Amino acid sequence: MGRVVQAFILVLVAVLPAGTSIAAQETASARVRLIATGGTISNREGGRLTAKELIELVPNLTNYAQVEAEQFANVSSSQLTLNQWLQLSQRVNHVLAEDPGLAGVVVTSGTDTLEETAYFLHLTVRSERPVVVVGAMRNPSTLGYEGAANLQQAFRVAAAPQSRGKGALVVLNGEINSAREVTKTDSLRLHTFATRGYGVLGLVDRDGVVYYRDMLRRHTYRSEFDLAGVTELPRVDVILVYQGASGDLIESVVDAGAHGIVVAAAGAGATSGTQNEAIAYAHKRGVFTVMSTRTGSGRVIPRQLPPLEQGMPEGRRLNIAHRIAAQDLAPLKARILLMLALTRTSDVTEIRRMFSEY
Ligand code: GLU
Repeated sequence: MGRVVQAFILVLVAVLPAGTSIAAQETASARVRLIATGGTISNREGGRLTAKELIELVPNLTNYAQVEAEQFANVSSSQLTLNQWLQLSQRVNHVLAEDPGLAGVVVTSGTDTLEETAYFLHLTVRSERPVVVVGAMRNPSTLGYEGAANLQQAFRVAAAPQSRGKGALVVLNGEINSAREVTKTDSLRLHTFATRGYGVLGLVDRDGVVYYRDMLRRHTYRSEFDLAGVTELPRVDVILVYQGASGDLIESVVDAGAHGIVVAAAGAGATSGTQNEAIAYAHKRGVFTVMSTRTGSGRVIPRQLPPLEQGMPEGRRLNIAHRIAAQDLAPLKARILLMLALTRTSDVTEIRRMFSEY
C-alpha cells in the first residue's frame, strides 16, 4: 500500500467517531425517508410511537444517514386494508419520483403480515432505489426491545449504494431477506424472518452492508405492474388443502365474487376430498386458480396437457388446462402476484408468463 493511501486511512480513522466503520461513514450524507405504518415496533404501552419518535430512538443516526420521517398509518399490520396498500405503494413511488436525490425508503410495519406488504411493494414500486421494510418482535415497553437496532440497520441498508436494484428488502436481526422470499417462521421468537430454502440475501454487520446473493426475478424497476390507474385490487382468496377437505369453501368464494383462488396444495400440487370438483366449478365460472404448496418451500411445476389419445379423463384435462403453477412462490405471495396480474389481463397464458418471470 502506498504511503499516501496509508496516511489518508490513518487520518480518516482519526476523524471518525468511535465505533463508526469506514463503510458506515461513506453513507452518512445519504438521505433516507421513513414512512411509518405502525406495528409492534411502535406499539408502546400508553400510546404508539410516531415516525419522528422512532427516529429519535436510534443513537448516532447521523453517522449512517440523514433521515426524514412521515406517518402513513399507526396500526397493526393486519389492520392495513388493500386500499391502504395501493395508497402506500403510490406514496412510495411518489416520494422516490419527486426526490431523485433520495437514497431509499424505509417502511415500518407490524410483523404479522409484513411479508405480504413487502412483496406488494416489491412488485409495484418502480424504482431501483431500495425500499426496506422493517419491524420488531418486542414492543418499546418490553425488556429487550430490538426495534431501534432493526431501524438503524434498515436505514443503513436503505442508504447503501449496493442495495440498489434488489427490490424490496426485509431487514430485521442483522439479516437482509428479499420480500419475494421471506416468511415469518415463528409467532414469537426474535429470529423469525427467514428465507426457507435459499437463505439471506445479505447481512448488516459492524463493518457495513454486505450482499451474498442477488435477485434474478423481475421486480420494482423491471416490473410491469403500474398502479397509476388502479383504484381497487381484485378479490383473490387462499384455500388450504387438508385431508378430506370439502370443496364447499372453494365454491363459496367463487359465489362470493372472487376473481382468483390460490390453492395451498399438499406436496407439489395435490388436493383432497372434493376440492378438485370445486376447482372445476371455479374454472367454469372464469375464476383463475393458482396451485402453490403448503409445505413452506419448493416448487409446483407448470404442467403440459398430455395428448388427447392418452385418454386422460375430461375433468382432469380441464383442470390442467386452466390451472396456473405458483412455482416457488408461497401461497401468500402467489395471491399478491395473481391480484396484480388480474389488474392487467384475464388471459391464462399471460398469467402463466408472469408466474415464470416474477
Ligand atoms: N405484531 C402485530 C403486527 O403485526 C403488531 C401488534 C400491534 O401493533 O398492535 O402488526
